[in-house]
Amino acid sequence: MPKTALITGISGQDGAYLAQFLLAKGYRVVGALRRSSRSAIPRLIELKIANDVELVDFDLAEITNIMRTLERVQPDEIYNLAAQSYVALSFEQPIYTSDANGIGALRILESLRQVVSAARFYQASTSEMFGRAPAFPQDETTPFCPRSPYGYAKLFAHWATVSYRESYGIHASSGILFNHESPLRGREFVTRKITWSLARIRHGDLETLELGNLDAQRDWGFAGDFVDGMWLMLQQDKAEDYVLATGETHTVRSFVETAASRFQFDIEWSGAGPDERGIDRRSGKTIVRVNPAFYRPAEVDKLAGNPRKAQEVLGWRRKIGFDELVTLMAEADARRVRDNFETGA
Ligand code: NDP
Ligand code: GDP
Repeated sequence: MPKTALITGISGQDGAYLAQFLLAKGYRVVGALRRSSRSAIPRLIELKIANDVELVDFDLAEITNIMRTLERVQPDEIYNLAAQSYVALSFEQPIYTSDANGIGALRILESLRQVVSAARFYQASTSEMFGRAPAFPQDETTPFCPRSPYGYAKLFAHWATVSYRESYGIHASSGILFNHESPLRGREFVTRKITWSLARIRHGDLETLELGNLDAQRDWGFAGDFVDGMWLMLQQDKAEDYVLATGETHTVRSFVETAASRFQFDIEWSGAGPDERGIDRRSGKTIVRVNPAFYRPAEVDKLAGNPRKAQEVLGWRRKIGFDELVTLMAEADARRVRDNFETGA
């Protein structure tokens, strides 16, 4: 009998890569999806797995729906990837974000305990829980200090996961994942916004790329590498929490420079703060501007993860480095712009 995995957030970036990974392992993959997303599974289509995944109606807001879904699907493994995942939007929609990302995870945990208590559970936790971290690099022992509604909602879900493990013996693990990107990343996130916009500038469809804080530093990995780690966590005899990260950090500015080089732009920076501009040395044109509208009410300046525990206990290794990640994303967006094809959120 193949194992059954239920993935919430199947229409998102990680849902697509995880589904692909589990199908290759012979799993029956059931994707839990909001009704409004029914016709919006471009990522599954792009990975050519749309016909291999069973889809069920699902919303994090509705516990009766979650309970019935678990009853019907009888999953061996549940991966809770569904969330309002955009930090900037969480400042605009703090209550909705807290309900979806925090209480939503608790709804699943409580349903799991009542309906399928032997199922293993993965919670998509985040480095945003570290926020203004007191130590670098951050690992499983670093104190949390979230700086956004997204971060504190995820922290609630993180502790709920720990609590269900400790109180009820549920096999529940929390993966504290640092930023991971790919050609399937939503276009509102900074990396994909950069590659998508540069592709359009090169093609002549856009004048300039407008960004917020160029000094923010992130530990950016490849999403396809991170889904292996999620699965490995659920294969352990004992559930625990793990950091997945690359251990390398780059600024937004350096992501821009690296991506720009893939489009044959050579960026020279001029000015400072909101007046900073990125000028292409070859054409003399300004192709990057700062727009303070993209600043956040509170910023997480730097995230850098230490994945040693995942490496030692799970044997997890990332395969794709920063330069290769940028190349993958830039090439995919160059192709999409050329073919007039759009994917992702
Ligand atoms: P995406 O934004 O690409 O996907 C989020 C998914 O959640 C979408 O499928 C979305 O569905 C679904 N969703 C949102 N609200 C609800 C709801 N109320 N009910 C049901 N489904 C809902 O995120 P990623 O794939 O990048 O990330 C996966 C998870 O990992 C998220 O929880 C994210 O917070 C977390 N994470 C991500 C990191 C990253 O760098 N990518 C880093 C650390 C954690 P719809 O299509 O309907 O909007
Ligand atoms: P996050 O780490 O989950 O918030 O992922 P994002 O990709 O949304 O943001 C990463 C960093 O890039 C944050 O520090 C943002 O403030 C910074 N950033 C700078 N300009 C932009 C922008 O235009 N859009 C986004 N999304 N982030 C930006």
